[in-house]
Amino acid sequence: MSSLVFSRLAPTPSGYLHFGNAFNFLLTRLLVDYQRGHLHLRIDDLDGPRVERSSVEDIFVQLEWLGIDYDSGPSGPDELYSKFSQQLRKERYHESLELLHKSGHLFACECSRSEIRQLSLNRNYPGTCRDKKLNLLNENQPWRVRVPEQTFVSFKTFTNKIEKIDVSQEMGDFVIKRRDGLPAYQLASIIDDLELGVNLVIRGQDLRASTGAQLFLAKCLNDSTFPAIRFVHHFLQNDDSGDKLSKTKGAHSLKMLKSKHRKPTWIYQETAKSLNLPFQEIRTLDDLKETFQSAMVLKDGQIKLLDRMN
Ligand SMILES: [Zn+2]
Repeated sequence: MSSLVFSRLAPTPSGYLHFGNAFNFLLTRLLVDYQRGHLHLRIDDLDGPRVERSSVEDIFVQLEWLGIDYDSGPSGPDELYSKFSQQLRKERYHESLELLHKSGHLFACECSRSEIRQLSLNRNYPGTCRDKKLNLLNENQPWRVRVPEQTFVSFKTFTNKIEKIDVSQEMGDFVIKRRDGLPAYQLASIIDDLELGVNLVIRGQDLRASTGAQLFLAKCLNDSTFPAIRFVHHFLQNDDSGDKLSKTKGAHSLKMLKSKHRKPTWIYQETAKSLNLPFQEIRTLDDLKETFQSAMVLKDGQIKLLDRMN
């Protein structure tokens, strides 16, 4: 017996959503529907100072425009702020920080960004403060998680293959509490996923190292449910010059595409194209779903669809 598939859309409201986000949402909806699962909308709005209401509103507007529905989560900004916001869960995250602190996984760090940049060999933290035993109660100092050499975690892919990540290589000692005192994304994300009962996470390849960090955290927190989570790390959508699409650039935002009279049909077709599916006949989201399902039921089709991921 396998349990119900439970996945989530987890946009961060730090700018306007772009085609890459739409692709992620559509792929998630398609995979969840393929397994008749449950889809939750979670908005990662912990980063208070950088979250603007217009970015939050944009998420709801674009989901509706794309016709992507979800089974639980906020129905609009007001319900987000009153019931679902990560801002309301800060205490919960701090409890976990305390646990990690007590079990000796954390250390305070006094390095500046430029010091880290100068000393780092592979963009990871060079370990400068690891053994300094700085007081964790010092203000304005981030907390880092000690990641011993050769820390491997493994996760399951959509098709239940086991993949390994060397967290010490891919992340190093990562920040868990930020300089401004907020819990870092890694912590909020895994705590929320575990509490929601998420067992399928679909995210971009740029977050593969984060997956490693989060699985390592779950281990440190003695959570036994995380091995049940399957992960899909999909390829990223690039702009015309080959750079990863980013919210800060805004040029490919859905808002902008709409103002140029692009229709959702275009997004569905582009999504199908990226997935190597026949796209000419696709007009609606249902057409896309049908095309996707027919490819997925064939073993070859499934492999073709998913082999460029993870
Ligand atoms: Zn340091």
